[in-house]
Amino acid sequence: MKIIFLQVLVFNQNKCDFCGTCVGVCPHDAIELFESALIVDEERCTLCKNCVVVCPARALEIRDEE
Ligand code: SF4
Ligand code: SF4
Repeated sequence: MKIIFLQVLVFNQNKCDFCGTCVGVCPHDAIELFESALIVDEERCTLCKNCVVVCPARALEIRDEE
């Protein structure tokens, strides 16, 4: 059996204060911010980590997923 590990961008809504910082640093316009929601377009996201690094609330992280 072949096991493939994928990485995913995980958003934690409870930590997010919707400051919009992540939107400005995404090179692929993959993040859309609403009043109380944030949506990442998985087809655009390249997992570059820009948003993870700048988020002051640590609401974004990249995790391995089996
Ligand atoms: S930078 Fe972090 S806290 Fe600000 S909107 Fe993005 S995910 Fe939320
Ligand atoms: S990981 Fe990079 S490409 Fe993906 S949403 Fe964050 S800034 Fe955009």
